[in-house]
Amino acid sequence: MSKKVQYYKALPGTNRQRGRARNLLKCAPKSQESWIVSGGESEHLVIKRNGQYYCDCYASETEKKLCSHVIKVQMELGEFPTQPILVTK
Ligand SMILES: [Zn+2]
Repeated sequence: MSKKVQYYKALPGTNRQRGRARNLLKCAPKSQESWIVSGGESEHLVIKRNGQYYCDCYASETEKKLCSHVIKVQMELGEFPTQPILVTK
């Protein structure tokens, strides 16, 4: 028996957030490090600072959670994984 353990690292965010980012939201660059995300209830501004993404919505600013707006921007930039990652221990 092999002692190697293989498992998949889950995608960041929830199913609902990723679906929302993929299907509903639109993303337009505002400057080199900021994006306007629209298509939801209201428009939001996502800013990249020191390699981190910040959004002006409640979930991101107040609850410090990953929001669908940031997911959308990262999807556009090709930085957001679209498949679970296989991790071998
Ligand atoms: Zn947001």
